[in-house]
Amino acid sequence: MAEVIIVGAGLAGLSCARELARANIPCLIVEASDGVGGRARTDYLDGFLLDRGFQVLLTAYPAAQRSLDYTALQLGRFEPGALVRLSGKFHRVADPWRRPGAMLQTAFSPIGTLGDKLRIAKLRYQVIRGPLQAIFQSPETSTSQFLRERGFSPVMIERFFRPFFGGIFLERELRTSSRMFQFVFRMFSEGHAALPARGMGAMAEQMASRLPEGTIRLNARATQVAAQSVTLATGERLSARSVVIAADHANACRLVPSLPQMRSKGATCLYFAAEKTPIDEPTLVLNGDSSGPVNSVCVPNLVAAGYAPVGAHLVSVTVLGQREMADGQMQAAVRQQLTSWFGPAVQRWQHLKSYFIPDALPEQTSVVLGDGSARLPEGSYACGDFLDTASINGALRSGRQVAEALLADARA
Ligand SMILES: Cc1cc2nc3c(=O)[nH]c(=O)nc-3n(C[C@H](O)[C@H](O)[C@H](O)COP(=O)(O)OP(=O)(O)OC[C@H]3O[C@@H](n4cnc5c(N)ncnc54)[C@H](O)[C@@H]3O)c2cc1C
Repeated sequence: MAEVIIVGAGLAGLSCARELARANIPCLIVEASDGVGGRARTDYLDGFLLDRGFQVLLTAYPAAQRSLDYTALQLGRFEPGALVRLSGKFHRVADPWRRPGAMLQTAFSPIGTLGDKLRIAKLRYQVIRGPLQAIFQSPETSTSQFLRERGFSPVMIERFFRPFFGGIFLERELRTSSRMFQFVFRMFSEGHAALPARGMGAMAEQMASRLPEGTIRLNARATQVAAQSVTLATGERLSARSVVIAADHANACRLVPSLPQMRSKGATCLYFAAEKTPIDEPTLVLNGDSSGPVNSVCVPNLVAAGYAPVGAHLVSVTVLGQREMADGQMQAAVRQQLTSWFGPAVQRWQHLKSYFIPDALPEQTSVVLGDGSARLPEGSYACGDFLDTASINGALRSGRQVAEALLADARA
């Protein structure tokens, strides 16, 4: 019999299982879907790797450094910075994280002012010094307010911060906590944005492959949990000394209604196959105008070649917000906007798949970094990105913390 049952084989659940396995505690993960990885999964379609929503691994994430074997993942790196589409032209923002001086290629760049360069250098200095924990104890406001208070010009906020961090927070209002902003800024300053050679899903697959055989049961949806038991949709009842809920926020709340309620942020990711790449570098292209559905575009196979078969290119397009259009309408709107960016070749792109993700990220207007896990009054435990920073790092960290809490309770 497993000593611990974990509900959910996303990064949080896998991280929890990994720590328990290290302590020789037998555990069983029950996963509702047919694979591991949760929101960080990759589908394979005609030689293309389609992440279920465009996302990146920031190599500086401390929890990822601890849990993942980067060498085996064969990470491909993004060029730091971005190309910003603005008023009919592309403008480069070069590495604001490490080389703030080079950030705006000319003093007259329409992305920001000379003063913004100095402010970003100062921000960088403030954000990277001291322990990471200090960020989560700093005064908290919204990201947009934080940037205004630091004197950034409205132009810089509109044309760079809004599309760049909007793509990370999955909301362009920048209402997300300033602590989360500083955390992400620091991660970009200390490492790179990267994609594994076999897609983002390779992170979870790697973690799963290093667990003892038989640890994961797929296609096993939990419908009820108690302190020492889990009931599956089939009616089967599993018992253990402890139960950890590592489901995403919406599903965790279905199982444990006493968990804190949070709103979800949605996103849509559309994938196209192109004969010719619309850009020739491994970088992110941002929408610096506030019009049109597209927030960002990239060609993942320029970052990690395995994302597309030889002779083809994969174009990934991210649209923020909850679904407002049918897939066909969305594709047409995206094609129209991108034709104005990249020319008529866009009309020949072949649509591969669209992912509409209503619960992509939990709303994080406030981030209090506790131990990333919850001991529930019902006697069970919970972990997941919604209890930490809503990120790969948060999920991994939270899973580890819940395992540590469980081990401490067992010892006590
Ligand atoms: C579009 C998008 C873009 C993102 N961009 C980034 C990024 O660039 N960088 C970054 O760091 N993070 C990003 N993230 C966030 C990151 O993917 C998540 O924070 C992380 O994967 C969450 O892991 P988790 O284990 O907490 O939850 P999940 O991955 O949601 O895992 C929960 C698991 O529980 C299972 N489950 C749910 N209910 C049950 C049940 N009743 N019984 C059994 N199993 C159940 C689910 O099937 C799932 O496998 C992004 C996410 C999305 C969707």
